[in-house]
Amino acid sequence: CGVFGVVGAGEAAPLVALGLHALQHRGQEAGGIVVHDPQAGFNSVRRFGYVRDTFTSQDVMDRLPGGVGIGHVRYSTTGSKGQTAIRDVQPFFGEFAMGGAAVAHNGNITNADALRKDLIGRGSIFQSSSDSECIIHLMARSMGPNIPERMKDALRRVEGAFSIVAMTRTKLIGCRDPLGVRPLVLGRIGDGYALASETCALDIIGAEFLREIEPGEMVVITEAGEIASHRPFEQRRPRFCIFEHVYFSRPDSILGGRSVYETREAIGKELAKEAPVEADLVCPVPDSGTPAAIGYSLQSGIPYGMGIIRNQYVGRTFIEPTEQIRNMGVRLKLNVNRALIRGKRVVLVDDSVVRGTTSRKIKEMILDAGAEEVHFRIASPPTAWPCFYGVDTPQREKLLAATMSADEMREHLGVDSLKFITLDGLYRAVGEARGRDPNAPQYCDACFSGAYPVAPSDQIAKGFEV
Ligand code: 5GP
Ligand code: SF4
Ligand code: MG
Repeated sequence: CGVFGVVGAGEAAPLVALGLHALQHRGQEAGGIVVHDPQAGFNSVRRFGYVRDTFTSQDVMDRLPGGVGIGHVRYSTTGSKGQTAIRDVQPFFGEFAMGGAAVAHNGNITNADALRKDLIGRGSIFQSSSDSECIIHLMARSMGPNIPERMKDALRRVEGAFSIVAMTRTKLIGCRDPLGVRPLVLGRIGDGYALASETCALDIIGAEFLREIEPGEMVVITEAGEIASHRPFEQRRPRFCIFEHVYFSRPDSILGGRSVYETREAIGKELAKEAPVEADLVCPVPDSGTPAAIGYSLQSGIPYGMGIIRNQYVGRTFIEPTEQIRNMGVRLKLNVNRALIRGKRVVLVDDSVVRGTTSRKIKEMILDAGAEEVHFRIASPPTAWPCFYGVDTPQREKLLAATMSADEMREHLGVDSLKFITLDGLYRAVGEARGRDPNAPQYCDACFSGAYPVAPSDQIAKGFEV
């Protein structure tokens, strides 16, 4: 998901809508905005669909007056999967002591089932099936003297991944979990501040990127532009999601001081060193494979070409919640550029193989178009474990790499060769010159390694074996 918030920069809602539009790649199912105005109080609009279609009319903006606002774009990882209910669309708002608060959450709470059961047992009334709603109830029950203190109380009981943008009537709050699994950045706009999942959302409103919110940090920003930093949690070694670098973030964003585009290009170069092949054309699976393919081409000297053309009017297929739509999605979205492919030995570069649906279809399309050979090069290691921290990977059984060896996968996909970047190669590409430290990995890489930095306790209770 994507989160955004702004305070002290004039009317909040139009800026929040722009920010969410820039974060649309992080969630395409639905979006929501909450604002506060001294006269009109809290107001919210939640809608299914793209921000550009749902939050651009004057009518909607008129219903969202106020100088403090937050927003969320949703991609369902928990709650009603498949068909998101409007009640699961964030931000969540609750009125309680001291005026109440609204919360937008990116990530996933790994002990949400246990928390929900406990809260319901004590009389909380849940409105949604989302893990994120726990935060509001925990805040309402806290005895803390003000809302930021109550939020600290709440978040100390929450396990898992959270980058949160929240607001009170007059303040904007941002917080990252102690491991800093999901991104969150701070920007300055005029006399005010903005918080966003990624820097590309600061760019769109003309805000200056100041810094990342640090893992385990909470910032509280007033309308007057005062900003206070808190450390509500015990300090731990950060474990940022390495897959943000590979796929999730937009290539024009800056993560950990590095351009995502440059990192992806470096991944492609690393891949070309680790898994060279004789071929005539390096071709990305657009858009997610493009920077890595450019890197592979630069390193190998094999010409780069757009052998697959993407229909720009279709969103991210993986994010489509049902398998059926995803299956259709490949053809709706991608088509082979026959003139370029015919008679060539083609290296296809994609970011990841999850279920293998995309790769299989693309291989067929490429062979139909008359390619001589097809070699897959993948910019991440085999995805063998589900993510429980906010990326919607399927159950373990559905992951190709969970049930097949590399050779079986090659066979299954029907390609001449299939190579994945190694975990160490990926670490080198994101700037860890010595690769992965096996005793204390510098990133979360659980979907590749099975090393979960936070025990997924709800899943374990349901029988998941780590
Ligand atoms: P597959 O077809 O193998 O299931 O999925 C692979 C494709 O989905 C890749 O082209 C990649 O761009 C996209 N993708 C892979 N992993 C993820 C993920 O965890 N989240 C999202 N949103 N997309 C993914
Ligand atoms: Fe990121 Fe994978 Fe860790 Fe999930 S499991 S947070 S996708 S690295
Ligand atoms: Mg893709």
